[in-house]
Amino acid sequence: MKRLDDLRGIGPKRLEALARHGIKSLTALLATLPLGYVDALNPTPLGQLTQEEHCVEGVVLDSPRRHFYGGKSAVRAKLGDDSGVLSLTWFNQPWMFTQIKKGDSLLIYGKVAFHQGVAGVVNPRKIHSRGIEPIYRTLQGLPGKIFSGLARQALDSMTDESAETLPQWFRDDWRLCGKRFAWEQAHFPQSQALLDQARRRLAFENLLLYQTALLAVGQRGQTGLALKCPEAALDRYWAALPFSPTDGQRAALQDVSDDLKSGYAMRRMLQGDVGSGKTAVAFGAAWLAACSGYQCAMMVPTEILARQHAASAARVLSPLGVTSGLLSGSLSAGERRAALAHISSGSWQLVIGTQALIGEAVQYHKLGLVITDEQHRFGVRQRQMLADKPGVNTQAHMLALSATPIPRSLALVLYGDLEISLIRDKPPGRMPVKTRIVPEEKRSQLFDYILSSARRGEQCFYVCSLVEDEEEQSAKSVKETYQYLKRGPLKTLRLGMVYGQQEEVEKSLAMSRFLAGTLDVLVASSVIEVGVDAPGATIMVIEDAERFGLAQLHQLRGRVGRGDKQSWCFLLGQANDRLQVMTQSEDGFFIAQKDLEQRGPGQFFGTLQHGRELPDTFGVKDIRLLAETTQCIKSLVQNPRQGPFLDYLTGLSRDMFAGVYGSGRH
Ligand code: ADP
Ligand code: MG
Repeated sequence: MKRLDDLRGIGPKRLEALARHGIKSLTALLATLPLGYVDALNPTPLGQLTQEEHCVEGVVLDSPRRHFYGGKSAVRAKLGDDSGVLSLTWFNQPWMFTQIKKGDSLLIYGKVAFHQGVAGVVNPRKIHSRGIEPIYRTLQGLPGKIFSGLARQALDSMTDESAETLPQWFRDDWRLCGKRFAWEQAHFPQSQALLDQARRRLAFENLLLYQTALLAVGQRGQTGLALKCPEAALDRYWAALPFSPTDGQRAALQDVSDDLKSGYAMRRMLQGDVGSGKTAVAFGAAWLAACSGYQCAMMVPTEILARQHAASAARVLSPLGVTSGLLSGSLSAGERRAALAHISSGSWQLVIGTQALIGEAVQYHKLGLVITDEQHRFGVRQRQMLADKPGVNTQAHMLALSATPIPRSLALVLYGDLEISLIRDKPPGRMPVKTRIVPEEKRSQLFDYILSSARRGEQCFYVCSLVEDEEEQSAKSVKETYQYLKRGPLKTLRLGMVYGQQEEVEKSLAMSRFLAGTLDVLVASSVIEVGVDAPGATIMVIEDAERFGLAQLHQLRGRVGRGDKQSWCFLLGQANDRLQVMTQSEDGFFIAQKDLEQRGPGQFFGTLQHGRELPDTFGVKDIRLLAETTQCIKSLVQNPRQGPFLDYLTGLSRDMFAGVYGSGRH
């Protein structure tokens, strides 16, 4: 088969750019699917435009006008059809002026906005044919337009047979079209129906291989350390806590205890909604490991949470004689040295930390249990890396905690390798959090409410607008909001702030002042989303709420309503379907289900699980496909004659989802 550098238009520079995006073969090139499609088969009549993306067709009404100002340019034109008019503006594309003439018929795509009742599009895209046009992600170092040319050449270089990965009988059984045909339609769709077929084939294969990978991971290290977990140890643990456990907590720790003494390595996920008290179960597991002489490591996604857990471990576990400590990126050199010594000598029985726990310098002493909190924040890979560290017993047990409740069918896909314990109940005495959507014009009433609550000694989280994955930007928005609130509407209150990139000292100072009640308002980025436990807080304000995913909003809201006072969650922004869901329910499962329905599993996965090993599900909007692949893999596993085929799939999945397998033993 041809290679990438055999393609016309690919020199060393572009080859390198492709490699940077993980594209190193023709198949990888074709597997880089469009982000979406513009359907230019049925343009919207201009009279029916809404404030959305549209494809429209019309005639250029007047000669276009061009302005230059301060080194910039704007080209303006008007498009009309028999139902209406649309104004077009191209900024900094002066050549557009010569490309369009009065009387031209144009096919245009772009996001329509209305200004004083007039519809307009800024920087619209000219569509060249009346078909379905793919839109690709911009790859740095590659001009966007060349991608489809490359895909064309790649397709032409292979035959149906050479491209195929699944045998004919299997494709017949599961109604899947050929792979080359699917790629052809994905990159050069001829109709919506054929595109749907292509999607089905490619998504089916992706999901199937992903599930195969999980299955293979789950089958490893079957035997595990057999720990002693006498009933009396469990009783002693619950008796030492300041509260009595809920039924769910008790049952979950019982599951863990059964696993630990079974002789098989535990692979368990503890799911429970925010505030259901998962930490107490995790500490109970650490206690059981310690009772049998084993060390436990607990990995959490943020510094703040690591410190909070370390503090409560010291409170809860030291009376039971369990020693514990913190290892995180923010320790001073001296503290770090001391921590490493405690870990390697085994004088700490429980180590709590961030990803620093995976670091090379860390040597464990009889590590028998690995816990990851807020599992969804880590990739399958990171979870595995801790267990795969040299010197760590391959029979170590694993417990993952997750507050993101996901429907069972999805749990199978995401966590097919894990058993699940579910905490359904919440600690007694919690009052439901009331949730309201606050439009811009009611903002001042919101400030009044925060002021009066502060006078009653209640505290408020103030979460700033989400800036996707841009740490610097989100720091900026926290600082600006802080300054604005401090100088303006909340100037009589005591304010603090936390954000991801902040100096650790400042961050933990602000956090501890808030926890101690000497701050009224904590302005924060979404770093506080996970785990933070501040029972004195009764108000959660979320700016630009519509930018957040439902799962995230639910997590954020879970930060309040932990004490015995009425708590409120205020979502700033325009009401939409998503925000409405938040006002309807506090049930994480219900919300997750809605999230899934509204966005489809592709995006839903994306926010659930960080890390890149999740399959690109190619916009599958249909949860039924997941059910089908789950069914498919079950039938393969149950039929011994399918062993060789399953091995073949495992081989394919290894190439595709190397990250899931991790890099350690095997
Ligand atoms: P999450 O499941 O979100 O991690 P946490 O473990 O942080 O929840 O627990 C939330 C709060 O509930 C903590 O303040 C914890 O001390 C308290 N808590 C946990 N279990 C109980 C219980 N059985 N009774 C009363 N309070 C509890
Ligand atoms: Mg938690």
